[in-house]
Amino acid sequence: MYLKPLQYYIDEYDRQTVEMCRNREQHFKESFIGNEPTRPAQIWGQLLFKLSIYFDVEMLAGERWENKKKIVDERMNRDRAKDSLLTTAEPPEHVHCLICRSKMNLIGKEIYELSSDDSNRVLFFFECPKHCKPRRAFFDNGEEYRPTLPVCPKCKGEVMQNVTREAGEIVMTDTCTKCGHVETTRFDTKVTPPEPDPNFIKDYHRFCLTDEQGEKYLTRKSEQAVALELSRHEESKKEEKRLLEEIAKIKKLNLNEVEQLLKVELEKEEYGRLHFSGPEIGKFFVVPFTVQNFKEGRAERDKIFGLKKIIQNLLVSTNWRLMSDGIYEQLGVLSGRLRGYDKQYELAELVERNEKKKVKSSNGR
Ligand SMILES: [Zn+2]
Ligand SMILES: [Zn+2]
Repeated sequence: MYLKPLQYYIDEYDRQTVEMCRNREQHFKESFIGNEPTRPAQIWGQLLFKLSIYFDVEMLAGERWENKKKIVDERMNRDRAKDSLLTTAEPPEHVHCLICRSKMNLIGKEIYELSSDDSNRVLFFFECPKHCKPRRAFFDNGEEYRPTLPVCPKCKGEVMQNVTREAGEIVMTDTCTKCGHVETTRFDTKVTPPEPDPNFIKDYHRFCLTDEQGEKYLTRKSEQAVALELSRHEESKKEEKRLLEEIAKIKKLNLNEVEQLLKVELEKEEYGRLHFSGPEIGKFFVVPFTVQNFKEGRAERDKIFGLKKIIQNLLVSTNWRLMSDGIYEQLGVLSGRLRGYDKQYELAELVERNEKKKVKSSNGR
């Protein structure tokens, strides 16, 4: 029978609770107190430790109290289902010995615990009345249980298994029929009683809450949730305000103004005949442009990269950007595309991109 009295499950659950809370507490003790020799650090560590107990370990104990009934019920139902399956499952009939062909006798049954999908299956064991070996085992659906046969780890040859019982031990000896390699495995069968735990009662009272303490935990949990929600709200309001301030700093230029800006500044750098085509208005506002290099002897590479740098620097504080497809040269004409940012959400995107770039370049340093 798998089902045990209710108190068994409660005690088991409480023992796990104490174990979990003790581990968590130990973890904080090691991280915050440790063997800190200097006094100021010790005081700081003590404080952090107390906070972690309050916000973490005590909350864990509360959570365990909150889930206790549900989990105990689940575990009892699981064992109840095993018992009912074990009593209702029918053994297959007509199981015969593979050696002497006698009808085999049912000698036992159990729940098969190693199912890959967590489903419960019953395994039935059969023995030959003439004691031929091996026994056979079948699942409740009639499928035979056929464990993989052991092979020699040295030569992959067939292995003869021999099991003997010694004082407090089961000894399995595998002997290879091909190369004679012997491997011995010992299983301890002594049942060691659990170590007495003199601190358990103290920790049980600390970590396994009574219903009255549990109710207090629920109140505290909902208060913390409200406080968290409030601070999140504050946080997002602050973030929104900051974003609006950043957007206000962007110099917003219309098409004519950006054209004028580039024309004047590019001429200083000896790029001329700046020409803007009509804007392409789709998902984005995009304007193709062409310009020519008037400085003699400017290296091929400098023409493109120099221009790119100049334009990027000129536009950095504005709502315009050189598009990522860059600048091309053909027959002495340099061409590229600009994107204009207009709507509030586009400007917000621009702010975010600038900030990412800032983070990147400060990390790169
Ligand atoms: Zn037989
Ligand atoms: Zn071998």
